[in-house]
Amino acid sequence: MFNIVIFGKPGSGKGTQADFLKNKYDLYHISTGDLFRKNISNKTKLGLEAMFYLDKGDLVPDSVTIKMLENEVLSNKDVNGYIFDGFPRTHSQAAALDAFLAEKGEGINGMVALEVTEDLLVTRLLKRGETSGRSDDQDELKIRNRFNEYETKTAVLKDYYQDQNKYFGVDGIGSIDVITKRLCEIIDKL
Ligand code: AMP
Repeated sequence: MFNIVIFGKPGSGKGTQADFLKNKYDLYHISTGDLFRKNISNKTKLGLEAMFYLDKGDLVPDSVTIKMLENEVLSNKDVNGYIFDGFPRTHSQAAALDAFLAEKGEGINGMVALEVTEDLLVTRLLKRGETSGRSDDQDELKIRNRFNEYETKTAVLKDYYQDQNKYFGVDGIGSIDVITKRLCEIIDKL
C-alpha cells in the first residue's frame, strides 16, 4: 500500500490538492472534516456529537475522531492506499494511526505539508465562507480559534514525522497546478 498524509493549516488547500492526488496516485481519500460534515447533515449520533466542536472551530475529541477514521478505513479496504486529509491532527491521533496501520503490516510513506502564511489563510477562508456555507469559515474569531488549535495541538506533528524522515514541506502559495506539481515531485520519490 501507498499511504500519504496531506498536512497544513486550515485553508492551506489540502482538500483541493487531495482531489488531484487521489486520482493521480489511485488513492482512497479520507477527509475527517468531510466525514464530520456528512454526519452532521445526516443528523447521525456522531454528527450530533461533533457539531458543537466544528461550529466553534475546536478539535473533536480524539476518541471520537480515531474511531471514525478507523471505521472509514475498515469500510474501504480494497484500495491501493489512502490519502489522509485533516487527520492526524494530534499526537495521539498520529500514534493511533501508526499502530492501526502497523497491525495490517502497513505504514505512512510520507507527510506532504502545504506551507502558507496565516494572514493569507484568513482572507482565503473568509472568501471560501461566502460560498461554502461553513459557519467555521464565516467568522474571523472561529478561524483564529482553528489556528490556535493547530498551533497548540497539531503543529507538533511536523516533528513527529520529521523524526521518522517522513515530513516534506512545500510552498503552498501559487496556482493550484503549480502546487500540485510541487507535491508530485515529492510524492514520486516516496
Ligand atoms: P477541516 O474540514 O479539515 O478543516 O475540519 C473541520 C473541522 O472538523 C475541524 O475544525 C474540527 O472541528 C473537525 N475535525 C476534522 N478533522 C479532525 C481531526 N483529525 N481531529 C479533530 N477534529 C477534526
